[in-house]
Amino acid sequence: MTALSTNQLEAFWLPFTPNTEFKRNPRIITGAEGMYYRDQAGRKILDSSAGLWCSNAGHCRAPIVKAIQETAATLDFAPNFQFGHPKAFEAAAKIAALAPGNLNHVFFANSGSEAADTAVKIAVAWHRARGEGTRTRIVGRERAYHGVGMAGISAGGIGTNRRWFDALTFPASHLPATYNRAEQAFSKGQPVWGGHLADELEKIITLHDASTIAAVIVEPMAGSTGVLPPPKGYLEKLRTITEQHGILLIFDEVITGFGRLGAGFAAERFGVTPDIITFAKGVTSGTVPMGGAIVDRRIYDQFMTGPDHAIDMFHGYTYSGHPLAAAAACATIDLYRDEGLFERSAALEPYFEQAVHSLRGTPLVQDIRNIGLAAAIDLEPVTGAPGKRAFDVMKTMFFDKDVVIRIAGDCVAFSPPLIAEQSHIDEMTGKLAEVLKAAA
Ligand code: PLP
Repeated sequence: MTALSTNQLEAFWLPFTPNTEFKRNPRIITGAEGMYYRDQAGRKILDSSAGLWCSNAGHCRAPIVKAIQETAATLDFAPNFQFGHPKAFEAAAKIAALAPGNLNHVFFANSGSEAADTAVKIAVAWHRARGEGTRTRIVGRERAYHGVGMAGISAGGIGTNRRWFDALTFPASHLPATYNRAEQAFSKGQPVWGGHLADELEKIITLHDASTIAAVIVEPMAGSTGVLPPPKGYLEKLRTITEQHGILLIFDEVITGFGRLGAGFAAERFGVTPDIITFAKGVTSGTVPMGGAIVDRRIYDQFMTGPDHAIDMFHGYTYSGHPLAAAAACATIDLYRDEGLFERSAALEPYFEQAVHSLRGTPLVQDIRNIGLAAAIDLEPVTGAPGKRAFDVMKTMFFDKDVVIRIAGDCVAFSPPLIAEQSHIDEMTGKLAEVLKAAA
């Protein structure tokens, strides 16, 4: 494969990317297998972030590829409005089987953003369907990422993603972020400090009244803003308070689902069952876009009141439960089971934790956090140029060290595929240490 010319790079406006710089200095990936990418020159590049937190089974895994290829040749599309095809039902059943409690019904979307929109709409519609139509407010959290749709910008807690679109947001309140460096620096797993921050929900309820609040949506572990594990007791408290006030609890498990925290869902790891779980990414190991919301039986049942000819929920996407995505999801979930990848993720966690925390004391490292197979390393920013430090580190890691890393602001996040070996963990952390020492 030959390198792309400047002209060929022009048309594509890359998302969440400084395009002008990228097109001067492109980072092009042309192949992938297992733990590695390849570029045009055939260089092997380690994937330290499972794509964008999605390729949990590793890249181009044969059973998933086969399922997608066969489905493309036999059922390229079938409508799921008023009709259906077997793989969508099978995928829904497999996903629901991984979810805790009575979360038995799956509404399909095509991304994490659509999953968040779907969950929020179901929550508001459910309250209305049972006669509490005043419950429309959503409670999110500072430093939350729920994608870039309606729910993502309204309930999300990233200023840069919201500020230009404020006029488009729906009424939302925000819990404080659970991270506090002074209290939690270099904590391993769930921090001890911070469980009390869930009590802030009581203040929001006092201010707005429970009768106006439909749902609280949180990532059990905030991923995109730098791996913020929930403080001990925090999720349990949110569950208690929401239950007391008739508010639905939504876990956005777009990152934490499918083994990232050593279980099917983080809800299982933390022993807290929400009313709705959103998922995407790992459901197909990133191979075909798919997302969705898994809802509690009582929510689903509320909509199933007939009459026979009337649609029960006015929501859905042309590609909800698309045959290729559904086939990929079934093959992926089977692969997770057959290779015991959730258990493997849990077994690797202690080694991963020790490896990332060995970076403590390396120049420019200000804090390190980890849980499951996710970790973040906060770097000292360049004065007056927020984000530049990690951006430069990312480029050096790619061009000089053959490692793709994910950055958020001045934070480096590691979230390797669940098939990672200890040697891959050593490679990503060792090379990051070399780059930081050279940059200091
Ligand atoms: N929710 C969470 C927790 C995420 O981490 C992401 C993406 O990283 C999303 C939602 C949005 O997913 P997508 O980019 O597929 O729309």
